[in-house]
Amino acid sequence: MLISAGVDIGSTASKAVILVDGENRGEVVGDSTTNPAKTAETIYQAALELAGVSRDDVAYVVGTGYGRTQVPFADSNVSEITCHGRGAHYLLPAARTVIDIGGQDTKVISIDSGGNLLDFAMNDKCAAGTGRFLEAMARSMAIPIEEMEQHYFDAGDACMITSMCSVFAESEVINLINDGVPMPRIVKGLLKSLTNRVASLSRRLGLIEEVVMTGGVAKNRGVCDALERKLKVPLRDFGGADPQLVGALGAALVAADLARGESGPVAT
Ligand code: ADP
Repeated sequence: MLISAGVDIGSTASKAVILVDGENRGEVVGDSTTNPAKTAETIYQAALELAGVSRDDVAYVVGTGYGRTQVPFADSNVSEITCHGRGAHYLLPAARTVIDIGGQDTKVISIDSGGNLLDFAMNDKCAAGTGRFLEAMARSMAIPIEEMEQHYFDAGDACMITSMCSVFAESEVINLINDGVPMPRIVKGLLKSLTNRVASLSRRLGLIEEVVMTGGVAKNRGVCDALERKLKVPLRDFGGADPQLVGALGAALVAADLARGESGPVAT
């Protein structure tokens, strides 16, 4: 029996996955904090308990994500770009392009038929096109981020959001609310504006099907719908697997390879 673990310390959320012989036995998502080492410990412990596995039985742990060097108990750390590719390939072997929208950056990742990284494009310089953009907009509209999906599907026409900058977009949203524009139209406009950003990043790399979406923002089916319409390609789903955990899953898969002494083309 081979037990491996992936711990993904993201800019916004921290995730852990425990694999037993390649099967996902425990997955946990929690908030990232100003103490990544402690957060890593807490979510890892929770995932171990969920999997019913003792820490001593874990053959290898890989840390990934923004805080991947801050996982004290990790045997090594690996780039989240590699991990999202591996995780997506495990869940959908036909996947060749992975669009990962997280809290603080967005990446378009190109992988081969074995799930290995070929190329990527990333936006980490600007909040527009990331989860942080949606969080700020939800806050200015005083709604939970999870409600944005329903508003998107309830809207007829989207209203136009003209500001390219998320700080200016926030004032624009407040003005639209004050002008009595219905919330669903504003939300649809915001999701379309986010997907325009992501689409221009995708064009830099080129999209090879099948295309999948990972990261916390992929939980919003409104974003998926807007992105499909913009890119004019279908986004394949993972049959119920949580897209936010794909990086941690990929890290656990790489950990299993490393435990077996099969490093493969791992970008660290
Ligand atoms: P990171 O690894 O950078 O922390 P994640 O992939 O864990 O990022 O995603 C976190 C982001 O996902 C946050 O910005 C959060 O607001 C967003 N998010 C989580 N759930 C939803 C949802 N249902 N709709 C839209 N965004 C969401």
